[in-house]
Amino acid sequence: MIDLPNQPASTLPLADAPRKISKILIANRGEVSLRVSRAAHDLGIKTVAIHSTADADSMHVRMADEAVCVGGPAGADSYLNIPSILSAAQITGADAVHPGYGFLSENSQFADLCEQHGLVWIGPKASMIDMMGDKVRAKQAAKEAGIPCVPGSDGAVTSIEEGLEVGKKVGYPVLVKAASGGGGRGMKVAESEAELESALSMAAAEAKAAFGDDSVYIEKYLGAPKHIEIQVAADEHGNVIHLGERDCSLQRRHQKVLEEAPSPALSLEQRMEIGELTRKAVGNLGYTSVGTVEYLYENGEFFFIEMNTRIQVEHPVTEAITGVDLVAEQIRIAAGLPLTKLQDQIEFKGHAMEARINAEHPFTFLPSPGLVTSYHAPGGAGVRVDSHLYSGYRIPPYYDSMIAKVIVHAEDREACSRRLARALHELVVSGVTSNIELHQFILNQTAFQVGDYGIHWLEERLAGLEEE
Ligand code: ADP
Repeated sequence: MIDLPNQPASTLPLADAPRKISKILIANRGEVSLRVSRAAHDLGIKTVAIHSTADADSMHVRMADEAVCVGGPAGADSYLNIPSILSAAQITGADAVHPGYGFLSENSQFADLCEQHGLVWIGPKASMIDMMGDKVRAKQAAKEAGIPCVPGSDGAVTSIEEGLEVGKKVGYPVLVKAASGGGGRGMKVAESEAELESALSMAAAEAKAAFGDDSVYIEKYLGAPKHIEIQVAADEHGNVIHLGERDCSLQRRHQKVLEEAPSPALSLEQRMEIGELTRKAVGNLGYTSVGTVEYLYENGEFFFIEMNTRIQVEHPVTEAITGVDLVAEQIRIAAGLPLTKLQDQIEFKGHAMEARINAEHPFTFLPSPGLVTSYHAPGGAGVRVDSHLYSGYRIPPYYDSMIAKVIVHAEDREACSRRLARALHELVVSGVTSNIELHQFILNQTAFQVGDYGIHWLEERLAGLEEE
């Protein structure tokens, strides 16, 4: 373990930073592009939006100082089109690139190419992205850093014999996972030895199709864990902080639906213990930028599952309870500045929740793109809405269905749930179907109200509804 230096926090202006950032190209779309643009503008930095032909009328295009069309509607032609994006940066004279989340945010080759083109990459070093992008390597690194992992295979599993041995060791059910996995894809449960062979081949095929890499590994499938993740931030001067946890256990198909901070399952002592362990491990790795270490939590024990080397969708709940602007911090770190706050200056205040509003049916989850005939965002004390929606906006069918995030903050969990219910009641999205009703349903459930829910709870509850 290294000793973390305790330098004073910095509020040095960006103008005095080792690396100049005066114009950021945001290699993303929609809500997150807008989020980054806002943070940049707050710091006095100009922004360049990129967009596909399908997104010409998107709010993120209107809110940036400049915009460049980088290709056709399909992600591969535009938001994943590296030559086109790098050209847009050169043409506009951008000096930095922010990748947002999704798309190229965890593409180390893109990070490398940005640097090679003289652009500051607003994220961790390419080698860190690579290490954490390979979940087998990431688990190895976590283990070496003293972080407990879900019991399972030591590395990738390449044969059924190897798989059977792991199954015998950890016990069934087991979960076969893609080494390059993301977004909950490439995962298959095997309830018993008999199911293992098909789980291995199905997960490998799905992983090959989604990530171009068919390597898989095996973990014990935990029956009722919570998903708890720790937000960290680290600068290149050796300062590392944790900003507490987010509870993201409300999931469907391994995708987060509603997140909260702090977790109703943890005591302050447990929070500081796992926070400190994570902080030390991240410091030992030499990681810089903001990042998130994800754990499953069961019977008082934490098990590492992965580290995300980017800003996450649910980051605003942490911002609400700590008062730290994580995107601004990320930009400052990339410019070479020290963190604005050190660990002893981080205070956790109140409770925050985020509801992900998707253009989809609240219970069948059928996507519902199309024309938004009217939109009204909630407001008032403790309410933040991050969204690219406006009345008359046409939601394109090509991308993620998330259209807004409603984030609320209040003095305690009960007041926070009431405030979220109030905000959802004020929110109007007409013309398309949205999942507002699903969030209202969740808020009314006793299990949610008492904070007693794990990662499988929502799906089980929804399955129960079908039978009712
Ligand atoms: P991805 O990168 O695809 O998001 P993760 O490893 O982060 O994959 O896992 C996503 C979700 O899958 C977790 O939040 C959890 O709900 C579920 N999951 C992952 N590993 C396990 C496990 N060993 N047992 C039970 N559920 C798991």
